[in-house]
Amino acid sequence: MSYEASGPDEKSMPMRQGVLLVISAPSGAGKTSLCQRLIEILPEMGHSTSFTTRAPRGEERDGVDYHFVSSETFALMVEADEFVEWAEVHGNRYGTAKSTLEQARLGGEDLLLEIDCQGAAQIKLAEPESVSIFVLPPSLQELERRLRGRSTDEDAEINRRLMNARVEMQAVKDYDYVVVNEDFDRALQELVSIVVAERLRTSRLQRLPVEDYQP
Ligand code: 5GP
Repeated sequence: MSYEASGPDEKSMPMRQGVLLVISAPSGAGKTSLCQRLIEILPEMGHSTSFTTRAPRGEERDGVDYHFVSSETFALMVEADEFVEWAEVHGNRYGTAKSTLEQARLGGEDLLLEIDCQGAAQIKLAEPESVSIFVLPPSLQELERRLRGRSTDEDAEINRRLMNARVEMQAVKDYDYVVVNEDFDRALQELVSIVVAERLRTSRLQRLPVEDYQP
């Protein structure tokens, strides 16, 4: 993420630009659990709360898991150009507010967006310095086994998700990184490594640490 200097006082500027991290995966690849653990391990990483028109599921809380809004409210927000990206996924609409990115940008904070591949493509255009990761299941057979293991889903729903997964997985080539979630701990370690390395990019530093040592 890039941002303007906030004023003449350099000390008030964050030391580095925050990492805007975009993670996508087909349903059942383990993205949500990986992202939860990633944020526990890297507490400085903020999590973007998306807006959605879908109804809350189970224990989900408004303003925490999502901002749950009506189709009318969502349409008004689209019209007012309040989203940096939005897309229709599985029959519902989801979007990331520009204000969420702006807040992170001003604070130089890292921000994680868990969004689908349509949204990820829009973010890459709007924020070219963002870092995108696609989480893959080890195979389609394993994905099917995991989806069937979740007792909540009907057969037709599982088949629909598998079909979607095949389509979504075609987008993998447009991402900066690919993590295969065969072994959870290893996949998590790989995600952490990507973030740690991206934080150290010279281009993210507002001020190079060697400036005081000029010959
Ligand atoms: P779920 O309804 O299962 O929470 O999410 C369904 C899909 O919508 C997931 O692939 C999730 O990553 C995606 N999604 C969640 N929030 C956003 C968002 O703000 N924008 C986009 N484009 N996709 C989102």
